[in-house]
Amino acid sequence: MVPKGKISRLLDSYDPKKLTLATVCSHTSLQLFDGARKEGFRTLGICIGRPPKFYDAFPKARPDQFFSVGSYGEIPSRAAELAKDNVVIIPHGSFVEYLGIESFEDLELPTFGNRRVLHWESDRDKQREWLLSAGLLMPDKIARPEDITRPVLVKFYGAKGGRGFFIAKNYEEFMEVDPKEKYTIQEYVIGTRYYMHFFYSPITDKGYRLSKGSLELLSMDRRDEANIDEMYKLGAQERLKQFGIMPTFVVTGNIPVVLRESLLPKAFWMGERTVERSIELFGGMVGPFSLECIVTDKLEFKVFEISARIVAGTNFFVSGSPYSDLREPNMSAGRRISKEIKLARRKKALDEVLS
Ligand code: AMP
Repeated sequence: MVPKGKISRLLDSYDPKKLTLATVCSHTSLQLFDGARKEGFRTLGICIGRPPKFYDAFPKARPDQFFSVGSYGEIPSRAAELAKDNVVIIPHGSFVEYLGIESFEDLELPTFGNRRVLHWESDRDKQREWLLSAGLLMPDKIARPEDITRPVLVKFYGAKGGRGFFIAKNYEEFMEVDPKEKYTIQEYVIGTRYYMHFFYSPITDKGYRLSKGSLELLSMDRRDEANIDEMYKLGAQERLKQFGIMPTFVVTGNIPVVLRESLLPKAFWMGERTVERSIELFGGMVGPFSLECIVTDKLEFKVFEISARIVAGTNFFVSGSPYSDLREPNMSAGRRISKEIKLARRKKALDEVLS
């Protein structure tokens, strides 16, 4: 992990009036660049080879400048070039995945958010420790395949976007796949999914207050997942199995949702507990995070995953959501990040939101 002192010294060498907000050209980059521009920042898009053509179709979300690399692995060795442009990195899921967790932790550039969260977020067991100790409910964990007596979801550790996950209802079904990779077995929770997009600001003293700073709810989505979401069109999963078709959970898009209003206090309580516990465990996460939940017919929220940065489900809300509109219109998650950096700059507290 790059020492905090090194990033602070780098920030001291920056011209705070000329910060450039940069990210990799993927994932949530359109709303990040659009939001940064709306807040008056210069933007820089990191891409492999030539600038991706699709930005020509979205002029408001095209970065002011492209920074071409041969591979994402090159980014750390070119950090000094970026630092000359006063670059602040806005990480998203693909940024961290392409670079690798260790390189991201070591990257010698100021980065939005607290990089120490990765240690807790990137390992499913650590996530579990964090969220359960915060008081949240999670799907039960089944210790051994022999103990499968009800529907479970078998998740692979390195799986990206749900690829390769499978459902089993008993030991025999588990053994039909007999995975060789590292996996975890979770109770298959039956209910409806809500991916809640929060924003924690450690430097705002208005709104829904926490022990330090305040919590906002920006929006919610539900993921479109192939092929589980559309399987019913061809018939029940059991019948498809005979053709060798297994349910998969590969994310292909996102759908906006709102939560039954009477559940909002519970949603905020969960967000609040997650942040408070993160402060105790590792000094607190900063900025956007998502609690990915299934709500059962008993109206219990079971959190199956936390994502501690901007998630792609926020892409729908470039011009705000039914929640963010009630704080400030036209506020995407991308723009909210830029606004936080602006506020931190004004309060001379960049150190509190960058690491
Ligand atoms: P994850 O990689 O943990 O985000 O899971 C990928 C997808 O699998 C989710 O978006 C859900 O659709 C589904 N899923 C994950 N965990 C569970 C669970 N315990 N019960 C039912 N569905 C789940």
